[in-house]
Amino acid sequence: MDDACIFCRIASGAIPATLLYADEQVVAFPDVNPQAPTHVLVIPRRHLPRLSALPGSDPLWNRLLAAVQAVAESLPLAGGFRLVVNQGGDGGQTVEHLHLHVLGGRQMTWPPG
Ligand code: AMP
Repeated sequence: MDDACIFCRIASGAIPATLLYADEQVVAFPDVNPQAPTHVLVIPRRHLPRLSALPGSDPLWNRLLAAVQAVAESLPLAGGFRLVVNQGGDGGQTVEHLHLHVLGGRQMTWPPG
């Protein structure tokens, strides 16, 4: 827990949020500035500043992806969705706590901006 981290504070309940999914390791909540009709952030409770801070072999990845699937099944995303992780400045990361964006409810375009 990093008290200065807004996502840690959401995960701990210090900042109220509508939790769309929660278990002992992962929570999901709506993005405050949605880029699609459905825009959900899936985050680990553990403070990890970015994707590269979590080794690929860490079982937490399974938990995060399972949460993505649970969120997707609970929302009107039968037509599909996009899963995005922004890493670092060039990747467009603005919040220094690992988060997976689940975007859907409209046709996504490619290439992304
Ligand atoms: P990124 O640019 O990949 O780091 O994404 C950070 C995301 O967090 C952005 O889409 C923001 O709109 C979102 N965000 C920032 N603060 C909050 C908050 N308090 N609650 C929900 N989403 C937030």
